[in-house]
Amino acid sequence: MFSFSSIKDYESLLLSGRITCVEAVSFYLQNIKTNSHLNAFLEVYEDEVLEYASLLDANRKSGKKSGKLHGVIVGLKDVIAYKNHKLSASSKILENFQSVYNATVTERLLKEEAIIIGRQNCDEFAMGSSNENSAFGNVLNPIDNTRVPGGSSGGSAVSVQADLCMISLGSDTGGSVRQPADFCGIVGLKPAYGRVSRYGLIAYASSFDQIGIFSKNVDDAALVLDVIAGPDDYDSTSISAPFTPVDTKKEKLTIGYFPATLEHNKLDTEIANAQKDFIKKLSEQNIEIKPIDFNLLEYIVPAYYVLTTAEASSNLSRYDGIKFGKSFSVNDLSDQIELTRSKYFGKEVKRRIMLGTFVLSEGYYDAYVTQAQKIRRILIDKTNAIFSNVDAIISPVSPTTAFKFNQNNTDPVEMFLADIFTVYANLTGIPAISIPLFKHSNGMPFGIQLMASHANELILLQLSKKLIEIKKNLN
Ligand code: GLN
Repeated sequence: MFSFSSIKDYESLLLSGRITCVEAVSFYLQNIKTNSHLNAFLEVYEDEVLEYASLLDANRKSGKKSGKLHGVIVGLKDVIAYKNHKLSASSKILENFQSVYNATVTERLLKEEAIIIGRQNCDEFAMGSSNENSAFGNVLNPIDNTRVPGGSSGGSAVSVQADLCMISLGSDTGGSVRQPADFCGIVGLKPAYGRVSRYGLIAYASSFDQIGIFSKNVDDAALVLDVIAGPDDYDSTSISAPFTPVDTKKEKLTIGYFPATLEHNKLDTEIANAQKDFIKKLSEQNIEIKPIDFNLLEYIVPAYYVLTTAEASSNLSRYDGIKFGKSFSVNDLSDQIELTRSKYFGKEVKRRIMLGTFVLSEGYYDAYVTQAQKIRRILIDKTNAIFSNVDAIISPVSPTTAFKFNQNNTDPVEMFLADIFTVYANLTGIPAISIPLFKHSNGMPFGIQLMASHANELILLQLSKKLIEIKKNLN
């Protein structure tokens, strides 16, 4: 029976004729059916992918195999546009909406012969940390079905964990790739802001949003990043900075950490101890460990939620029931807009639109938005200073392992605090990765987060491999 370990191995199986794309696709289609209770996919393009897989098989047999992702089976979070396919942001307001163009990432995947297998469930408009905000039902954590998969890209993380596809693309505005990856025990990479074009990504908070990658291993994330990254005429914030590798001539790598994060009262003690212990072990492995003085932790989550809700309230104003999506047909225009938005936006989305509209309103703008922007500036300056002394920062991904359904969704502030370790990278635009390393006594996986200076994804990937190796040898 087919089993997937890495894109490279899959490629050699294909080339040696031990497997075909049709067989691989059939394996995943079957797994999606068997695991339909997880609710990871909102839609599966069954006939289409079987047809395309057989075309790829025929091409390969006649010597035509040109794509770097030839036959690689990919799932897309329901916020990434795929031409002539539905795109709903897991929201009623866009139910049955079809995209008329491809996102740049979709275009680049297809050009490299990837097979896009389906559209994945997520929190509505990518707002959430548990996937409990989807208009189309919860996604279950495959390891323990009574627990959340994390959010907002829950369906994308679950799909990779449970072998429903090889790779998923999600979006990370404040942790939505890294946190669900952590909750499901897989790799989650958020590239630097601008590294991957946002063209065709449904906007939540445009100065934070970034498309990221879920994979079973670090090499696969690197390979997919290589395909989707790079400047794009359709996204003026996309960057062309080269990837800088780790300086291998350097005697010792330096990893910094924030002692304040490890003492945080929200951090689970088992996670805290595993982090401290691992950091100590790293210092015995020719890695220099530097504690970093950081007194801004308490400002991070408030600044994030002020700025992202402000941007969201503006971005989501386009859903008025007139231009596209579902709408109420009544005679009065403002009634039509009000009814459409009241009926078809979910509770969390409405909360954020209201919060964002409030902080942007006259008389409050300076007290909230300007202050939050100042915090963002201070954080960026502080981060640049930190990276003149260290190669990377290590931190927990989330204060807890995957929590139970309904545990955190009565108090929104409690849920917002779950993002305390991840939003830093989005506020500063730096790349970050979560890698699975440990198992909690409650049976759930957790790992570490690594962050590097702007546009230094290569350091993250190289260091991640090194740390995984170190951890393996410790066992
Ligand atoms: N949990 C965060 C939020 O709700 C992050 C979401 C995201 O990264 N899309 O805003």
